[in-house]
Amino acid sequence: MKTKKLKIVLVSTPIGTLGSGKGGGVELTLISLIKGLLHLGHELILVAPSGSVLPSDCKDVDLRVVDGVDQLSWQKQDFYSPVILPANGVLPKLLKEALDIGKQADAVLNMSYDWLPLWLTPFVEAKLFHLISMGGVSKVVIDAVKELSQYDHSRLAFHTNSQASDYELYGEPIIVGNGFDLSNYHFQPEVGGPIGWAGRIAPEKGLEDAASVAAELGETLLVWGLIEDKNYAKEVESLFPKGTINWKGFLETRNFQKELGKCRVLINTPKWNEAFGNVIVESLACGVPVVAYERGGPGELIKQGITGWLVPKDDVSALTNAVLRINEIDRKQCRLWVEETSSYKGFAERINDWINGGIHKKSINNEYI
Ligand code: UDP
Repeated sequence: MKTKKLKIVLVSTPIGTLGSGKGGGVELTLISLIKGLLHLGHELILVAPSGSVLPSDCKDVDLRVVDGVDQLSWQKQDFYSPVILPANGVLPKLLKEALDIGKQADAVLNMSYDWLPLWLTPFVEAKLFHLISMGGVSKVVIDAVKELSQYDHSRLAFHTNSQASDYELYGEPIIVGNGFDLSNYHFQPEVGGPIGWAGRIAPEKGLEDAASVAAELGETLLVWGLIEDKNYAKEVESLFPKGTINWKGFLETRNFQKELGKCRVLINTPKWNEAFGNVIVESLACGVPVVAYERGGPGELIKQGITGWLVPKDDVSALTNAVLRINEIDRKQCRLWVEETSSYKGFAERINDWINGGIHKKSINNEYI
């Protein structure tokens, strides 16, 4: 069946500019989505904080930028924090612009994890959809998701079932996974490389447990990612013998995958209900198996004994033992699994089906408003 071309407005994360790394996995997800939706022939307008940069293969998106102060990420706030909007905040500005353009579009797809866009949805003319990018880290966001699900469940989608299980929903969750431009990731067959870890350097990512494995094995852990919390990074470093951690910095995808692909294993240690876990798929795409805690997205991404090992949550000695068994994993199987499940084109098709389903839905629960 031919896909009807849509005009879609995308709302970027208000946590930082695209390309800064501050937005975490959402940045790469958004880029994949843009490529995939363009490939399907849709017309795209992206509203993003000024300073955002897009890769050259996204040049067909109409980029509209707005100035304003970054929103504080919910994972840095308490679960029961009230909603805080800074003076001259970028979030309301992104929404104002997107909802205005959205009046003449088929859909507005919001990628920011916050209360305001969710709450606004029933009251605006534009058809506003939300790809929820985190587990339930905020009571006000969880409540807003619940209310929106009651009003029109089709406006919400999630990356994984584990993530969606944090929310109270009025229907089965719509799960869209994620997608990657696999031509950017090169398979590296060599075994016997170093051990690696990648992600934002922040407490919810559990770097200390991976460093503990490295210390136990008397090896150096290569660490890639944005240092979001400097005190945390210093504290983790101080816990282990000098040289246990080799900070490799935040690299852009081309260089990140080149270095990551040399590892014999990636260790993934989420301390929160990880919504997806981009770095896991990126690692597998390079042929690097992953050892991870069975918590959140990683539990759905790693195939036991085929693409790596899942171990019980917070069990550091199980992590170490799994790293010692990593040569039982065939690196080719890791790449193969990613090719079968995680292309950006497949992701865009799932998003396309979700949005089309929502646009053509007959009734919504007007009693809710
Ligand atoms: N990343 C990167 N360069 C690096 C290390 C990480 O671009 O040197 C990106 C990686 O591609 C991934 C993101 O950082 O998209 C981390 O996303 P993930 O879903 O793993 O965790 P999140 O930060 O969203 O919690």
